[in-house]
Amino acid sequence: TERTLCMIKPDGVERNLIGNVLTRIESAGLRIVALRKLRLTKAQAEGFYAVHKERPFFQSLVDYMTSGPIVAAVLEGENAIAVWRGLMGATNPANADAGTIRKDLALDVERNTVHGSDASETAAQEIPYFFNAMELQ
Ligand code: ATP
Ligand code: MG
Repeated sequence: TERTLCMIKPDGVERNLIGNVLTRIESAGLRIVALRKLRLTKAQAEGFYAVHKERPFFQSLVDYMTSGPIVAAVLEGENAIAVWRGLMGATNPANADAGTIRKDLALDVERNTVHGSDASETAAQEIPYFFNAMELQ
């Protein structure tokens, strides 16, 4: 079994899509082991996306990710990282497969509704960014 970090980004929270996304997660058999709604500070968003700090879209991404509340969750299951990335679909919704969250719900390549860890090392960094040991039962 494996854990991954999920976020419902500001565009998803703003458009009342929290329940839609969480239903897809539970219907796929992933368990929600931790869940929180919060608003990232600029420093927290910059830290979370530090790997992208040299990319041209970095400042816009930080502005967007701090524009409103998000939902963070830890998901658990067999191959949870790949299963959740599969439910999300491609980064750019224009390239996402039918039936994925990003195809069905996302607005554009930046406002793409959800985040998922991309590897086990990334999940191991991202999960403690939002949740402490007591919250991860
Ligand atoms: P995430 O890390 O949020 O799960 P991802 O792994 O599919 O998404 P990354 O390449 O890690 O995509 O990019 C992180 C985020 O930066 C994207 O989800 C999107 O919000 C934004 N982003 C990525 N590429 C672009 C781009 N070309 N223009 C604008 N924003 C972008
Ligand atoms: Mg990524």
